[in-house]
Amino acid sequence: MGKKTFARWFAKLILCKGETKPCGVCSACRKITAGTHPDVQIWEEETKSGMLSVGFVRDLRRDCAILPNESDYKIYIIPHMERMNDSAFNALLKTLEEPSKHVVFLLTAPNPDELADTVRSRVVPIQLYPLTDAQMEAFLTERFPDLPKEQREGALLFANGNPGLAVRFLSDPIFSENQKRVEDFCKAVNAKSDYALLKLFSSFERDKKAVSAFLEQTLEALRLSLRARAGVQTKLPPSLVLDRLTQKQLLELISFLEESRQLFATNANFQLVLCYLAAEISRRVQA
Ligand SMILES: [Zn+2]
Repeated sequence: MGKKTFARWFAKLILCKGETKPCGVCSACRKITAGTHPDVQIWEEETKSGMLSVGFVRDLRRDCAILPNESDYKIYIIPHMERMNDSAFNALLKTLEEPSKHVVFLLTAPNPDELADTVRSRVVPIQLYPLTDAQMEAFLTERFPDLPKEQREGALLFANGNPGLAVRFLSDPIFSENQKRVEDFCKAVNAKSDYALLKLFSSFERDKKAVSAFLEQTLEALRLSLRARAGVQTKLPPSLVLDRLTQKQLLELISFLEESRQLFATNANFQLVLCYLAAEISRRVQA
């Protein structure tokens, strides 16, 4: 949780010129906060498949050969290491094993299990944990002071302690459009209706990005349901309560949807994938 924020903090720790590092006020710290430090780069790539390309890695390698601009180190933050497939990763392997003295890589991923062993064996892992509701509230109020309180509370509920996710909920219209779909999903699952599920998935037409966002939002709702069942107090709205599922079904649905996110990274026919999802979900929730 807060992976990119943490990576930037770590970059400050390395480059800070103040006494107590990171001081937050020296020129290096301030530039990193503003995203203008020439030696701290966030490397991301939007591709159709959602995976990082070999070309992305080649550009990165070429950039690593250039000396830092004004510091002792050049810091590369790669926020989605889980999106690097084998061929892209193999192209990076040598650079990762024997990086130039001036290069530091900060790689992030949502979950260590989503990384290949070849990656995991070559890094020092640092695990991050969810923020508390109070921390999230303070963070969102500072970041979105002008938004209505209810909207911030909705994001807080769904983001499960992940500040980056909450920011996306509040700034990308896809997420608010999907909110209704998540409610329809819960309704369809409670009704165990094949037809309603199929209708829901066909509403995405050709929009891959909307489906990926929908899966993420639905997963958060399901995890919230699971926490509620385990007796953790949550503010789960009635429209998202899945009272017709057993705990086992809920767990199976969560792991199925987690796996399904990979389906959209392949070149499989999009409409077929949607039908497959509707059918498999329906099969998993039947009594
Ligand atoms: Zn500093």
